[in-house]
Amino acid sequence: MIKYHPNSELLLQYVQGALPASISVAIAAHLELCAHCAEHTDTLEQQCAHSAFADEQIEASELAYEQSHNEDALGDEYAAMLADITADDLRDDFSIASSKELRFGDKTITLPRALSHIGMGRFMQAGKLARSRLELDEGSMRTSLLYIAPGGTIPEHTHTGFELTLLLDGSFSDEQGTYEPGDFMWLDHRHQHTPYTEHGCLCLAVVNSALHFNKGLSKLLNPIGELIY
Ligand SMILES: [Zn+2]
Repeated sequence: MIKYHPNSELLLQYVQGALPASISVAIAAHLELCAHCAEHTDTLEQQCAHSAFADEQIEASELAYEQSHNEDALGDEYAAMLADITADDLRDDFSIASSKELRFGDKTITLPRALSHIGMGRFMQAGKLARSRLELDEGSMRTSLLYIAPGGTIPEHTHTGFELTLLLDGSFSDEQGTYEPGDFMWLDHRHQHTPYTEHGCLCLAVVNSALHFNKGLSKLLNPIGELIY
């Protein structure tokens, strides 16, 4: 069962279209894996549509008053226009049919549809880590697919900014627990951890600054830090 979810505030901002593309994509991918959040997001979408409709009605009424027109007629027009724009049946007609598949050795992983239309760089590798950058072009905010081969670990680190991790396949553990596909973790400078995977895992990671390694020779760990950021 998925234990870690985006919080309500983040889901609301997602529905309102107020988030950077990198974070929106991670949430959309989580929604494909988590029926609970998908349902909650549907409810939020309906609430937002209703409040937008109410705003439009108020504007329409004011406009109608100013122009001395019939308020109801103008309201109906707006309602019809909004109904067209927010028509639900359009969604199914334009869903993305194909999903990207990744192959690691003899393992094939199907990516969430939310990622299928985003360009990806080729995988760069350092030890048991491999990273492909997603072409979202959001400056210091970088989104990557991170594959950790069985037995791989990321040395203990904390974050100068934030680190959003969505586990897509396999499992990994850190000091806080064990994660499974769909788990959505948002960490910042208050957290430090040492992720480890026994059987290998694939994550979607969004970070906005370099990792800070707590132990060892940071120079030796730089290639790992650069790979992840
Ligand atoms: Zn969820």
